[in-house]
Amino acid sequence: MKQGTSSSIKQKIRENVPGKYYIIDKCIGCSLCYELSPRNFSMNLDKGCDFVFRQPETQEDEARCLKAMQSCPTDAIRDDGFGPVK
Ligand code: SF4
Repeated sequence: MKQGTSSSIKQKIRENVPGKYYIIDKCIGCSLCYELSPRNFSMNLDKGCDFVFRQPETQEDEARCLKAMQSCPTDAIRDDGFGPVK
C-alpha cells in the first residue's frame, strides 16, 4: 500500500476532495481508476488527469479505491495511511 508522505502531499492535485485518498501529479490520465471506481474518481479534461471527487463512503467504495490505488500504473493514488473505512 502506498501511503502519503510529506513530499507526495505537496504533489497533490488541487481538485481532490479532502480525505483519505488523493491523486498526485504523477497521474497520466489513463482513467483506470475511474473504470475501477467511478463513484470516487473523475477526470479533469483540461488537465488530463484524474482526481478524487468523492471519498469512499461504503466498504464497497473502499475496496474499489484500494484496488484502484494498487492498480495505478504510475503510483499516483495515495492514502493517508489510516487504513480502510470501517
Ligand atoms: S489509474 Fe493512476 S495514472 Fe491512471 S488516471 Fe488513475 S491516478 Fe491517473
